[in-house]
Amino acid sequence: MNYTDFIHNLDSRLELYFKEQKNFICCKKQCSACCEKGDYPLSQYELEYLMEGYSNLETSLKIKVQENFKKFKKGGKCPFLVDKTCSVYNWRPIICRVHGLAYICPTGEAKLPYCANEGKNYSKVYSSKELFCEPIKENLDTKELLKDFPDVVIRNLYDWLNYN
Ligand code: SF4
Ligand code: SF4
Repeated sequence: MNYTDFIHNLDSRLELYFKEQKNFICCKKQCSACCEKGDYPLSQYELEYLMEGYSNLETSLKIKVQENFKKFKKGGKCPFLVDKTCSVYNWRPIICRVHGLAYICPTGEAKLPYCANEGKNYSKVYSSKELFCEPIKENLDTKELLKDFPDVVIRNLYDWLNYN
C-alpha cells in the first residue's frame, strides 16, 4: 500500500473514532493550542507528504509559512500554522490526525490529548489520571500505524528540517 492509500484508509477509521468520542472532544474553532507545541514526531513518509502539501500552497500562504520556518525553534509553534489554521490540513502528519482522541497505547494505558489537563478535551470524563470513558482500542501511535512501511525513521519536525 502506498502512503496516500494508507492515509485515506486511516482517515476512514478515524472518522468513526471521532464520531464515537464526539461527546468528549470539545475543540473550539480557532483553538490551536496543540499546534503551538508543533515540534511533533513524524516519519520520512509523512514529511514527504507534508512537503507535497506545502508545494501546493498558493504563493501568499507559502510566504507566510516560510516566515514561520525562519522563526521555528525546537519545541516551538508549528510553522504550518497560519492565522490559527493549519495551512496543510489535508497533508498533515499522523499525530495531527489522531490528536484529540483517547486511545490505548502499547503499555495498555489510555493516552489522552494533553489538553485534558487544561480543562479541554476529555476533561468531563477525566480526573486525577483516571479516565471514565472507553478509549479507542487501536494503538494510534505513529510507529505502530506505519509498521508495514519499510525502514521507518521517526524524528521531530525541527530535527528533520535541520537534518543534513
Ligand atoms: S485538541 Fe485540545 S488543544 Fe487541540 S484544538 Fe482540541 S481542545 Fe484545542
Ligand atoms: S501540521 Fe497542521 S495540524 Fe499539524 S501541528 Fe502543524 S498546523 Fe497543526
